Amino acid sequence: MGPCLGRNDHQSEQQKGIPNIGNTCYMNSVIQVLAATPNFLANLDSVKQAELIALKNFIQGVKLRYPSSSLSILANDFKNQISQAHPIFQGSRENDAKELFAIILSILGEEETVTNPFNIVFKRSFKCEEKNHIAYSEEKSNLIIIPKGASIENHLKNMDSEKKFWGDNQLYCEKCKKTKDITMKTERIELPEILVLYTPKDGNSKNNTKCLNEVILEQKSYILYAVICYNSWPRHYYAYTRISEKSWRKYNDDRTSESNSLPEKNAYLLFYKSNY
Ligand SMILES: [Zn+2]
Repeated sequence: MGPCLGRNDHQSEQQKGIPNIGNTCYMNSVIQVLAATPNFLANLDSVKQAELIALKNFIQGVKLRYPSSSLSILANDFKNQISQAHPIFQGSRENDAKELFAIILSILGEEETVTNPFNIVFKRSFKCEEKNHIAYSEEKSNLIIIPKGASIENHLKNMDSEKKFWGDNQLYCEKCKKTKDITMKTERIELPEILVLYTPKDGNSKNNTKCLNEVILEQKSYILYAVICYNSWPRHYYAYTRISEKSWRKYNDDRTSESNSLPEKNAYLLFYKSNY
């Protein structure tokens, strides 16, 4: 690692750009973000599965700035490993960064020694209005979906408000054995270390989700540290990681540059770390 000259806490080491080995901008963007995710590499220390060993080597190569020729080999290794159980990643098809991220996390979930910093656990209660029956469900997720057209701030604030499935929208009550007016409440019982927000692709229309620097989830503050952008035409993924409070590094395959701002459009996956 190079010398750090008076850099502040936000400083991420400069990671090496990754050559494109055939429509792999989706993979390169995910790898840059994981390399910039606090403790992610250390967390892979004793993984056993071949896909994760290849992932660990790949991230290490990016962080330690291996030569491009070595990174191409590590990229190929990782892609080959992940393709064995997930043939969608074979060949040089342009894949989805979010799918790759989800598959990496599902493989991580099979390792006993690894904690998943993205894990969100939430509980839902369903109250039958007529007889006050209450049913619960518990779910896990690795990200929060920001619906089309919604602002991040409003969505995070309002997503836990009660939802009434009344009248024409009744739900089934297990105790009544028929559909009833049901009121649903959601609460998160485990907040993630790393909060991922996902803005689904939206055909040809522009994605203008504004990247908020800080978000609050149930009184916990999170700071944006990385973004994966998706450009729909020509189709391309690229990533940003935070250098300092006001500057960012852009990773566009093997090209890297610095920028004082984030783009106004194309944010696809936003990564926030908990702000102590
Ligand atoms: Zn009931």
